[in-house]
Amino acid sequence: MKTYLITGGAGFIGSNFIRYVLEKYGDGVKVVNVDALTYAGNLKSLQEVENSPSYNFMHANICDRAEMRDLFKRVKPDYVVNFAAESHVDRSIETPAVFEETNVGGTISLLDAFRAVWEREDGVYPNDVRFLQVGTDEVYGSLPLDDPGAFFREDTPLCPHSPYSASKASADMFVRAYGDTYGMPINITRCSNNYGPYQFPEKLIPLMINNALHRKQLPVYGDGLNVRDWLYVGDHCKAIDLVLRKGRPGEVYNIGGHNERSNIDVVKTIVAEVRRWTADDAIGDSLITYVADRKGHDRRYGIAPDKIEAELGWHPETSFAEGIVKTIRWYLDNRAWVEDVTSGAYQSYYQDMYGRR
Ligand code: NAD
Repeated sequence: MKTYLITGGAGFIGSNFIRYVLEKYGDGVKVVNVDALTYAGNLKSLQEVENSPSYNFMHANICDRAEMRDLFKRVKPDYVVNFAAESHVDRSIETPAVFEETNVGGTISLLDAFRAVWEREDGVYPNDVRFLQVGTDEVYGSLPLDDPGAFFREDTPLCPHSPYSASKASADMFVRAYGDTYGMPINITRCSNNYGPYQFPEKLIPLMINNALHRKQLPVYGDGLNVRDWLYVGDHCKAIDLVLRKGRPGEVYNIGGHNERSNIDVVKTIVAEVRRWTADDAIGDSLITYVADRKGHDRRYGIAPDKIEAELGWHPETSFAEGIVKTIRWYLDNRAWVEDVTSGAYQSYYQDMYGRR
């Protein structure tokens, strides 16, 4: 019986991961979800599993070092998967210090708690426990648009440009350092942009779906030509679990979708699909509005997931055509969830970012 301690499990990827693990292993695992329930965390994303005897929720902040130590001692997690983070680049440009606190300080707090439970006096760890840091390809910086053959690889030097990616790169460095210094069995995964159900509608894809459904303007940064690699969240969850169970300790694994698209292409695809599914002719490209570019906006992210494909046999299974329809259908069928997470504080944030549109 393996115990997963999942931080940030009330957020987008974390809640999908919890559902994935409980569906896959049923009562063969225990899952403890630790989440501070910031604006991005919502327990309604976990309603399907909240009564499962294999699932427990703990409302706590990963930066609380004493609480994390106590919790780890009680739970003795075999697997720790650290999703908890401030995750939105735009917010990091406004309030960088919060990103340092949670993403760097919180990660160190978890590393220390893990060490306190599992490190034996001779410095050796049990060989079937693992600390997995969920990282991002944004730590590698930006690729030029005119060199489509260039990709981020695990040995690409870290060169973060936003306060968000700087905090994630710093966290990765600490995780690697705990592996090198204390022999802690760690992994770092670095994934490209995720999309799918339960994503907070401040991120590109759910923002555009939600705005299109309400016939609101669709704000696109700069010239719209920035390129991202998109991966369906279910494929990311599968990759994380594979790394936990079969990845070599100490290794970094890049995870990507072989699915690079410019932002404007993504937005136009969403417009067409939302119009098709709603049969609402008022939804069209005329809703697209170009707005001032994000500060320090990285031009292109491109990932080569060769290592995880060769070593662990993982590959992205969901095509963008299939994934985007699944995602749009989910947002159409779950408007109550969207209303719930976008009420209150989100409204004033949206007004600050994009004005009244
Ligand atoms: P999210 O913003 O949807 O969720 C973050 C979760 O962490 C929320 O539930 C929030 O309440 C919780 N949290 C925040 N601060 C906390 C704290 N101090 N203590 C405990 N809980 C806290 O994020 P996401 O999109 O699900 O991303 C999860 C992880 O994956 C992040 O580490 C992110 O950097 C990484 N990542 C995300 C993407 C993506 O496209 N979304 C891609 C690659 C990597």
